[in-house]
Amino acid sequence: MTKKIMKKINKKALDNPIFSYSQLDENNSFLLLWGTEGVGFGEFTFYYNEENLMCCASEYMDPEFVKQALCAMVDNCRFTEFGEINEVSKPVEAINIDKEPIEVKHSELERADDNSSFRSDCPVCKDGVLLVQRDQSNFKLLAEDHCVLCGQKFIYSDIEELRERER
Ligand SMILES: [Zn+2]
Repeated sequence: MTKKIMKKINKKALDNPIFSYSQLDENNSFLLLWGTEGVGFGEFTFYYNEENLMCCASEYMDPEFVKQALCAMVDNCRFTEFGEINEVSKPVEAINIDKEPIEVKHSELERADDNSSFRSDCPVCKDGVLLVQRDQSNFKLLAEDHCVLCGQKFIYSDIEELRERER
């Protein structure tokens, strides 16, 4: 929000904000890595699914925990104005969403970070990540996955080995 708008703002509305929307930017993904004493560590990925609904891949942590992690992130921030932000990466919008699925071996993909044994860099757009999806009814890892950024679909040919690792 700019200072110009700030001046015109109704003080009451600012004290008790009613958010009419909150959304992700054109990069279509927001990742929060967290670690706590006693609970361990994990990651929350906010993204839009294929139906354009905002989702949070929370690794089974409940919404209240996610909220607390977000609050902790804000508390840890140094607040700046405009102008200090480095040029953000250029927008990509699910450009590969309609392409044929690509068969890959999860074990041969580059892991996106050291904290997760599941997250991989997207071998197609290089900027997005594959999270590995789970069946919502039985929590089994799914062979089908897609890049959260470019939308490219993938099929893990070694899904059985991946499932085996969780046993
Ligand atoms: Zn991609």
